[in-house]
Amino acid sequence: MVNVPELFGSNVFNDDVMKDRLPKPVYKALKSTIQEGATLDPSVANAVAHAMKEWAIEKGCTHYTHWFQPLTGITAEKHDSFINPDGDGKVIMTFSGKELIKGEPDASSFPNGGIRATFEARGYTAWDPTSYAFAKDGTLYIPTAFCSYTGEVLDKKTPLLRSMERISKEAVRILHLFGKDDVNRVITTVGPEQEYFLIDKAMYDKRPDLRFTGRTLFGAKAPKGQELDDHYFGAIKPRVAAFMAELDRELWKFGIYAKTEHNEVAPSQHEIAPIFTTTNVAVDHNELLMEILKKTAEKYDLVCLLHEKPFAGVNGSGKHNNWSLSTNTGENLLKPGKKPAENTQFLLFLAAIVKGVDEYQDLLRISVASAGNDHRLGANEAPPAILSVFLGDDLGGVVDSIIAGEEYEGEGKKNMDLGVEVLPTVRRDTTDRNRTSPFAFTGNRFEFRSLGSAENIASPNIVLNTVVAEELKQFADKLEGAEDFDKAVKKLIAKTFRAHHRIIFNGDNYSQEWVEEAERRGLLNLKSVPDAVAHYIDEKNIRLFTENEVFTKEELMARYEVDLENYAKLINIEALTMIDMAKKDIIPAVTSYVRDLTETALAKKSLSADIPVSLEAKLVSSLSQKLVCFDEKVDELENDLIKAGEYSDDIQAYADFYCDSVFADMQALRAIGDEIETETGASYWPYPTYGELLFGV
Ligand code: ADP
Ligand code: MG
Repeated sequence: MVNVPELFGSNVFNDDVMKDRLPKPVYKALKSTIQEGATLDPSVANAVAHAMKEWAIEKGCTHYTHWFQPLTGITAEKHDSFINPDGDGKVIMTFSGKELIKGEPDASSFPNGGIRATFEARGYTAWDPTSYAFAKDGTLYIPTAFCSYTGEVLDKKTPLLRSMERISKEAVRILHLFGKDDVNRVITTVGPEQEYFLIDKAMYDKRPDLRFTGRTLFGAKAPKGQELDDHYFGAIKPRVAAFMAELDRELWKFGIYAKTEHNEVAPSQHEIAPIFTTTNVAVDHNELLMEILKKTAEKYDLVCLLHEKPFAGVNGSGKHNNWSLSTNTGENLLKPGKKPAENTQFLLFLAAIVKGVDEYQDLLRISVASAGNDHRLGANEAPPAILSVFLGDDLGGVVDSIIAGEEYEGEGKKNMDLGVEVLPTVRRDTTDRNRTSPFAFTGNRFEFRSLGSAENIASPNIVLNTVVAEELKQFADKLEGAEDFDKAVKKLIAKTFRAHHRIIFNGDNYSQEWVEEAERRGLLNLKSVPDAVAHYIDEKNIRLFTENEVFTKEELMARYEVDLENYAKLINIEALTMIDMAKKDIIPAVTSYVRDLTETALAKKSLSADIPVSLEAKLVSSLSQKLVCFDEKVDELENDLIKAGEYSDDIQAYADFYCDSVFADMQALRAIGDEIETETGASYWPYPTYGELLFGV
């Protein structure tokens, strides 16, 4: 039996451990840093470092690392041991406050978007006391922020923390206007639902595309896909169940509230959802979760695929970012209460969010843009690239009546009659959970559903927090000067909903009608990474980030460049992998099948001219023609890769070329490759098929 409460957080230097191990004044000083952002005294840092080290050594640690989130999209770490020579040829284990607070990794190879020249390649990491340190693999992990020698931010954590500060400050201003003087901090909370695929390790090893790029670059459809919906919420297979049980235990050790797990729509696809927590911690936990998913899978000879679209033709994987705001006094600001129409405070926050999503559709889209996610957004499986807000019937009705200037006469919550006496009555959720909306109100939070499964959730939360902070600031500026607050606030709410009504959409976001309707409404439809990221440096977006002090203009330019550069690099790797697979495996395999067919036909003919060889002839002819075409597509792709070099001086044109030309070549090559696969004998085909990959576990 596992003792879950005992296991939970056992690898974390958490509040209980701190209370237990730190001298009282030190604990109090650290607590006020964590809760109120007070600056940390060096003597406090020394005491904390000492306690951390003692605790870590008991947990079997010999090393420590500053753990950070550079712009690569994954976490980074550099390990140092605790050892120090004691002068007598022996060592002692030490860890100082200085070492806890600041690290200096050589940062020359992290993406920086031209911010740093190599001669000042040093980077600094700085301890983030708001996210607990933890012990993993014999090392003490210290969550840190990462910046350049000259102070520019090079990571995802720093702007996230800045955005949290911003939204807190502006939300508090608003709440004070409502007379809530005891509120001094507003925290954004996030619960990310994570989708992933599990496939057999042995099969994975045989696919260079999966190994190099995380997705299949070739692969004909299996006879069976997800059409029967028999995997969704289906019984979990024993090997997967064992994996999930261990996964939960591992996550609990790190204080991650792993809560629900189920099979997803696609075969071999699953989902895990933790209970929500403070955004900063939720981000760190999600990074850790993705790593632990992969590691635990290996123990079961499985591979966890976090790519957004590992398989064409079946659903890809995303992440749902459940986001809300709550006060230090414990109030969830997105809880509408029994009568939302009369809940002015709630409606004001709602108006800020609706306005923010409308005005910064482009930034929200950018925050979820990745080469992998381009396969999903806009396909009929994930919310489209068009941003809109879903409010549901009830809340939508309230907003409609505000816009029309009428009294709201809604029905409120209804009980669902299931028609069976023995079943308890279930409250019908009035937010009817439109699964197609990219940004849906779900009762007491918004669910941003456009995220890709592999992405660091910091980016969308940085945008969300900053955008809503900006809107709340504008509201507070207006309302603080108002003579009659009640009147002014109601007027402001109505005016805002009227001005931004176009962003609200309760219908089917997957339909073609919506694409057309959205265009009529003037909403953006940014289909690819280069299309979206181009807006990063629009004047209004630069203003938003610089005025809210989340990014400087230079930092924003750097992110724009890094995003486009990463995109081009990724497509380049995929293209090279395809070329390699085509030349080294597919062409030789199909050629030998064709040769065997030809030899069979010739042998038959030599036996007797009467034996029919029409089948061999047909296959040989068809495959030979297709191989010629396939080879031409390889050439076209190779030529375009050379041509891409011509654009390398202009990062936007470079990324555009990869999107419009290289990626298009890849799709054409794949289409013909997949046709060839369906005609080639199974024993000749060099890779495990979709059927084997998807139904192999
Ligand atoms: P569904 O699959 O229907 O969207 P789940 O229960 O799987 O619902 O996921 C809901 C997620 O929303 C969980 O991670 C949950 O912790 C999170 N959540 C609930 N309340 C809040 C909140 N106030 N702030 C942020 N996230 C929340
Ligand atoms: Mg969800």
